Amino acid sequence: MTNHSMHAELPFDEESQPPPVSTGDLPGADQVRAVVDDAYQRYRTDTSGTVADYIPVLGKASPDLFGIYVVGARGQSYGVGDVETTFSIQSVSKPFVFALACHQVGYDAARHKLGVNGTGFPFDSLIAVELNPARTMNPLVNAGAIAATSLLAGDTAEEKWQTVRTGLSMFAGRELTMSTEVYESETATNRRNRGIAQVLESYGRLYFDPEAATDVYTRQCSLEVTARDLAVMAATLANGGMNPVTGVQVLAPGVCRRVLAVMAIAGLYELSGDWLYEIGMPGKSGVSGGIVTVSPGKGGLATYSPPLDDAGNSVRGQLATKYLAERLGLNLFASEPA
Ligand code: GLN
Repeated sequence: MTNHSMHAELPFDEESQPPPVSTGDLPGADQVRAVVDDAYQRYRTDTSGTVADYIPVLGKASPDLFGIYVVGARGQSYGVGDVETTFSIQSVSKPFVFALACHQVGYDAARHKLGVNGTGFPFDSLIAVELNPARTMNPLVNAGAIAATSLLAGDTAEEKWQTVRTGLSMFAGRELTMSTEVYESETATNRRNRGIAQVLESYGRLYFDPEAATDVYTRQCSLEVTARDLAVMAATLANGGMNPVTGVQVLAPGVCRRVLAVMAIAGLYELSGDWLYEIGMPGKSGVSGGIVTVSPGKGGLATYSPPLDDAGNSVRGQLATKYLAERLGLNLFASEPA
């Protein structure tokens, strides 16, 4: 055991004795509605950022699309704007697939196999793999995400894909399907992920055939969702792993909080520190323009708006989320003198 995993030895007994949990509630429905509407009006006219086109089909999305959706831990919900427009989930799939991988091998083993620390590098960095003596990354950058996908239940690529699709559908509370157009566009143009998978495999840090694991990962990124779906998925992570709309318990005890810890560390890649500093909640962004944010015990937020900043994060999404975090009192680090 190296120093890099010394924290694995910290004692805890939560499996035998579930710890008490202390959270809070969203403000009342009227206030949530008013704040969501304000955020939408305030930022809909902001035209900064660029729509991603390194996966060609993504470049077709209108830069004007903008939606905000909130789902509370009791299933109450409110949305405004383009909340029923479908888009490919892209990297927003990663925390949910990490959760499924924890389900498969246990969250302790998942930590050792995938890593849980920030890389400080962009989402598709290879240098980051080389610099880490353990050769693990975290499940929210591409390397660790492909490794997480490789850990899922199933002996064949098709079985692993079904694990992804049915698992993410449980988070969303409806049957999700893949966009063939997005899958084919990324498969034809994105060779980088295959290279990343080969490097991980050379270090014994991939747990399935590299080509097949990359293929399942590309399918996973091509699942079609709406802002509303993402908010339900986020709310499931805000609600101890139980989908608040369907009442289905998706995650084993103890998994949810680990997923949120990794989202806090790495959900916005090398800008995760800035995100946490500004917003104070775990979040996850994707190149198609989605962002999910989780307020534990209170609810899930989702935004959709395709124009991105230089790090690949939705501009309007960040602005709107910051506004909601402030006005709805969601920052996890905020306190007042007693
Ligand atoms: N499918 C994309 C990729 O692997 C997802 C990246 C992202 O959303 N940041 O490049």
